[in-house]
Amino acid sequence: MARLIKGLDTKLIHSGEPEPLIGGAVAMPIFQSSTFEYGGQTSYHDLRYIRLNNTPNHLVLHAKLAALESAEAALVAGSGMAAISATLFTVLASGGHLIAQDCVYGGTHDLFVEDFPRYGMEVDFVDGDEPATWRQALRPNTKAIYVEAMSNPLLQVSDLQAAVDFAAENGLVSIIDNTFASPINFRPAEIGFDLSLHSGTKYLNGHTDIVAGAVIGRAQLVDNIKHTLDHLGGSLDPHACFLLHRGMKTLAVRVRHQNESALKIGRWLEQHPAVPRVNYPGLESHSNHLRACELFDGFGGVLSFELEGGTEAARRFMDRVTIPISAPSLGGVETLITRPATTSHSGMSPAERERAGIGDELVRLSVGLESSDDLIEDLETALSG
Ligand code: PLP
Repeated sequence: MARLIKGLDTKLIHSGEPEPLIGGAVAMPIFQSSTFEYGGQTSYHDLRYIRLNNTPNHLVLHAKLAALESAEAALVAGSGMAAISATLFTVLASGGHLIAQDCVYGGTHDLFVEDFPRYGMEVDFVDGDEPATWRQALRPNTKAIYVEAMSNPLLQVSDLQAAVDFAAENGLVSIIDNTFASPINFRPAEIGFDLSLHSGTKYLNGHTDIVAGAVIGRAQLVDNIKHTLDHLGGSLDPHACFLLHRGMKTLAVRVRHQNESALKIGRWLEQHPAVPRVNYPGLESHSNHLRACELFDGFGGVLSFELEGGTEAARRFMDRVTIPISAPSLGGVETLITRPATTSHSGMSPAERERAGIGDELVRLSVGLESSDDLIEDLETALSG
């Protein structure tokens, strides 16, 4: 009888796994072979070769990721940026134009403004909260709309359903970076997104020991993106596939803990007199809170905030915390703290950061799996110094 696989937690463990088990191995073995015996394939992209993203370690991940987000297909890539760039180079080929939410991950922003013009691609940024204004950005060559589930680092939640509807009305591809939500909190295909992208480096892997990316969505689009990725060479190594696979098995328990802990810390920070502003969509004070409640099953483990005393106070505070490690990235088991102006968003000019609302004083906290009480005590001591 076929295995009963319904809930997300069951999918994480069993979807896409080989049947029968390979040599009886309960954990997926690593196929550390660059090439595989020729099997009569007629398409170049079907040859079995690591760069073509189709070893057994890739295929199990593709099936699991697609099942997790209730989508038709998935593809892993060598990094989140490899997934994002291969997707956009495919969708915007031949001088396409993109409408993008105005506050996105710094690396994505830099790709849009630095690399796009060199390849004849164009971007216009829009306010993700104001769908009525998006129409003005439409051009004859507009091919796609791009949003983030929760924006990095301000945790804004754009009108995601409006983005899907706008794309459908105007013949565009709807693309979302779902890294911050993870499939546990949000499955974009369920509300009609064509493509969902991930930095697998973050929650999907969760252990801060690899870089990886993923593209999940409509089969024809994913196949086209695979062809681009095959040519660009941004494949994921089988050993990294194995680590991503292993990490994903605990995704649900990790993310649910992080949802709970970040909300507790956000509530605590919000009532602290030295903290004038906290950005976390799970807080009633967040301007997109109601929308986030409608869309998401949880609000993720990342929050950002400002301190009384500005940048100097933020620096002092970051020097004094003892549990959070000062490092870019997020979504791992360790709590990380950073000022995005100096790390994830340092490629943007000060004027671009100011336009996007990312001040030098903004602190971003990625809540890990430590005890929330220990974290709160640590933050309290650092704030009172
Ligand atoms: N998307 C988001 C939301 C990110 O935060 C990041 C990295 O921080 C990326 C994409 C890029 O991912 P990677 O570093 O795996 O290339």
